[in-house]
Amino acid sequence: MSANPSVVSSNKRLDGKVAIVTGGASGIGAAAVRLFSQNGAKVVIADIQDNLGQEIANKLCENVSYIHCDVSQEEQVINLINTTVDKYGQLDIMYNNAGIIDNFYISIVEASKSDLDRLLAVNLVGSFLGAKHAARVMIPRRKGCILFTASACVNIAGLGTHAYSVTKHGISGLVKSLSAELGEHGIRVNCVSPFSVATGIAGRIPSEEEIAQNEMFVSGVANLKEKILKVDDVAQAALYLASDEAGYVSGLNLVVDGGYSVVNPSMM
Ligand code: NAD
Repeated sequence: MSANPSVVSSNKRLDGKVAIVTGGASGIGAAAVRLFSQNGAKVVIADIQDNLGQEIANKLCENVSYIHCDVSQEEQVINLINTTVDKYGQLDIMYNNAGIIDNFYISIVEASKSDLDRLLAVNLVGSFLGAKHAARVMIPRRKGCILFTASACVNIAGLGTHAYSVTKHGISGLVKSLSAELGEHGIRVNCVSPFSVATGIAGRIPSEEEIAQNEMFVSGVANLKEKILKVDDVAQAALYLASDEAGYVSGLNLVVDGGYSVVNPSMM
């Protein structure tokens, strides 16, 4: 059998590609920005934390730039996509990763509609808008890759995170419908679904001690028991999906949880 010529054998797995990473100023997004640029991509960080985003862009190299973009605002998403294409001539990878979370362990009785609206606007509407306007510029080129960060709570119950869970299930639905629609245009659509990672998403980054003591951060699989999920583990999964090595992979929810959802199939 002959090798697939579209799979480039290189340690720069994204050579020549242009990527946008929303929520790229911190956590999983910042790790993806680092990894994508190390692998040869030109990367645009899109975020609302201007100082952090600009700082990362300055630190990495001239192939990484920053654009302020609140993903819940359509005109800002349009500006993000158009500015990227004007600057680099194309868009190959749209990683819709920006997200926020509500209060953990809150009863549905106490949950507020305003929290739901806030989370829907960023996590789901933001992802929808990013995909829509990326598809607009990818369809004429007949190629592209749209990625999202969903969550392990798509597979298992996220206790007391109702609004968050709604938004992440919405992303999982988008992956299915968009992969079906955009496949004929040569565009792949996938998501990564991490288990708990110690980032600042819940307000502050937990200490090493808190991480080690909190079972939310420790995988339930025996041979990985001591291994705590890191942002780079998630970014590596995104890198695979973004690369030509995943050229036949579309409609996938790639769970990055050390096997937790298999061992503990009911809840987190
Ligand atoms: P993080 O807080 O470190 O990063 C999120 C980034 O999104 C921040 O830089 C923030 O400024 C940005 N952001 C927030 N609102 C925005 C908006 N309106 N427009 C543009 N950018 C905005 O958190 P993280 O953990 O790296 O989260 C990244 C993604 O991973 C999120 O979608 C989150 O839901 C998902 N996720 C996280 C975990 C976890 O345990 N940390 C688990 C599963 C899924």
